[in-house]
Amino acid sequence: MEYDGAIIDLDGTIYREYTPIPGSKTAIQSLRERGLSIIFLTNNPERSPDAIAHRLESMGIPCDPGAIITAGAVTTQYLASHHPTDPIFLIGSDGLADQFERAGLTLTDEPPEATVVVTSYDRSFDFEDLTDGLRALQTAELFVGTDPDRIYPGPHGKPVPGSGAITGAVGGTADRTPDIVFGKPSLETVEYVDERLEPQDGDWLVVGDSLTTDITFGKRAGMDTALVRSGLTDESDTLSPTPEYVVKTIGEILSIL
Ligand SMILES: [Mg+2]
Repeated sequence: MEYDGAIIDLDGTIYREYTPIPGSKTAIQSLRERGLSIIFLTNNPERSPDAIAHRLESMGIPCDPGAIITAGAVTTQYLASHHPTDPIFLIGSDGLADQFERAGLTLTDEPPEATVVVTSYDRSFDFEDLTDGLRALQTAELFVGTDPDRIYPGPHGKPVPGSGAITGAVGGTADRTPDIVFGKPSLETVEYVDERLEPQDGDWLVVGDSLTTDITFGKRAGMDTALVRSGLTDESDTLSPTPEYVVKTIGEILSIL
């Protein structure tokens, strides 16, 4: 099958933390040489597209920040169009707070003032955040999570907690489940990506290491999918939903084109 472009996941597909997955640099190079457009789509909301482009660059994968879509960007756009002036209580990274502020959103440090609560990946998450989250959720109208990832592949292939773990802890404490969870495979992300791809017609391949986020996203977007086994999915997992292709790492991606 000939593809016009690929939508590629990052954590567990291109790198694990600061370590590139072997073959990823050459794979991206080869895809570009074959004329495929590349978009990176990540549920990791911790960093801005600029910061991610910087990391990719340091791994020898040059990339325009405009070709990187994050769950943080999808969340920011949604809040900017639906809740532009609502006070938001955020449990998340400084990088995400910066993105909110640059979009003109209103952040509050006072939990009872918040009408919107956003939970996300936060390496400094502690008991105080949990308490504040509980207070905020007692009155807030809207509870959103940036992405569902309970774990993501950390260094040496060992999983570490992600946004979904924090959303679960805060929501569980307040006995509330989030009203919306962005990132893959949400319909908000499918729409966001659709809008981005609109000027470029053609067939896109979705590549990622997670069945529940990457492969499910691809199915919902009506695109073919390729699962890589370099991240969260191992040999013993039942492949559901079923990807069109399975490869060990992205280094083998050319074998399916
Ligand atoms: Mg991944």
